[in-house]
Amino acid sequence: MNLLKDGFHLTGDSNALYVVQYKDKKELLFNVKINMDTSFLLGAYLCRINADPKVRVVLQKATEQPDMSINTAHKLLGHHGEVGTRQIAKALRISLTKGNMEVCKACAIAKARQ
Ligand SMILES: [Zn+2]
Repeated sequence: MNLLKDGFHLTGDSNALYVVQYKDKKELLFNVKINMDTSFLLGAYLCRINADPKVRVVLQKATEQPDMSINTAHKLLGHHGEVGTRQIAKALRISLTKGNMEVCKACAIAKARQ
């Protein structure tokens, strides 16, 4: 996907970078400044919204069942590591039950094949 070919424009300054589509009033803001030795990098916090069918299913299950195990969250949220799964669940406001993550068979098989 090339946003600039899709009608987006690039603008900004030394503190923020905007990728803007004026027609639909869409905007991506990169304002997380990471200073390097002689330069800087502008980043953004991105969060998936429930327009994604997979995320919608997770959010729906999370509201039906207020607590979800870390193992279920791991499978539903894309097989991230335990720390990543907890961070994503927190960002999506999914409360997790206590307990450590068990070894995931799918991840074990995937790692064994690498
Ligand atoms: Zn897994």
